[in-house]
Amino acid sequence: MKKLIYFLLSLVITSPAMAEVSIFACEPEWAALSRQLGGDKVTVFSATTGLQDPHYIQARPSLISKARRADLLICTGAGLEAAWLPLLQRKSGNPAIQEGASGYFMASNYVRLSDIPTSLDRSQGHVHAAGNPHIQTSPLNIMQVAKALSQRLQDIDSANADFYQQRGDDFTQRWQAAITKWQQQAAQLKGLPVVVQHNSWSYLFDWLKLKKVAVLEAKPGVPPTINDLNKVLNQLKKTPAKLVIHAAYQPSRATDWLVGKTNITKVTLPFTVGGNKQSTDLFSLFDNTIQLLVDATK
Ligand SMILES: [Zn+2]
Repeated sequence: MKKLIYFLLSLVITSPAMAEVSIFACEPEWAALSRQLGGDKVTVFSATTGLQDPHYIQARPSLISKARRADLLICTGAGLEAAWLPLLQRKSGNPAIQEGASGYFMASNYVRLSDIPTSLDRSQGHVHAAGNPHIQTSPLNIMQVAKALSQRLQDIDSANADFYQQRGDDFTQRWQAAITKWQQQAAQLKGLPVVVQHNSWSYLFDWLKLKKVAVLEAKPGVPPTINDLNKVLNQLKKTPAKLVIHAAYQPSRATDWLVGKTNITKVTLPFTVGGNKQSTDLFSLFDNTIQLLVDATK
């Protein structure tokens, strides 16, 4: 009888597992990763779509109200959202997602950043003072972020820690196998000379050993002038390129200009989940990215 009473008491006292963890992701790639790692224990909102420029969006009231109710904020960091995220955090009035809180997660803190500028000059467009924030273009970076994010979910929602651990292990295994497959598919791209419109692809190029020979934007984030473009055209006479890459969210005017003047092939890459019809999750994002690059070299 005593045992039964204790048992009934324990049912009353034990708090129910946390309701679903509400996640506010700044970009679609982190929303997609959250779904991979959190399954049905999380609800996920993405502040931007794959066809929006994550550098510049409006901290509009609908976003603020989503941020107000979030348990976990997942963004790239490294200055990518500097134009809108601080305002959004402040207006949300939500202590859980302020810097330093357990609900504040910046993916770039878990990878090694490249392109760290040696000198800073704001006139150089949206120079990212902390380094190149476009980390989602390499699956190796996503692996690093996944490990940290899985741990964070376990910390925030400890009642479901085993669930997150298991999902994290499962994701790691599938992701590693996919990386091996992608590297095989992309082996022929090694050393390929490429022009980029915006400096978005450093991590992808490091991973697949593509060679960046020119950037169309003289100032990052600022559309190039005809003078800038002519300079690139001259440079390409000495160091020719096979492809010119631009992200689906960007207007392709500069890329199209170059294609009109040369026989370089244009490739529009999705850049993130939702950047095109095929890229519905992280796996299909890289399936599609590699396929587009390989097809363009045929
Ligand atoms: Zn940028």
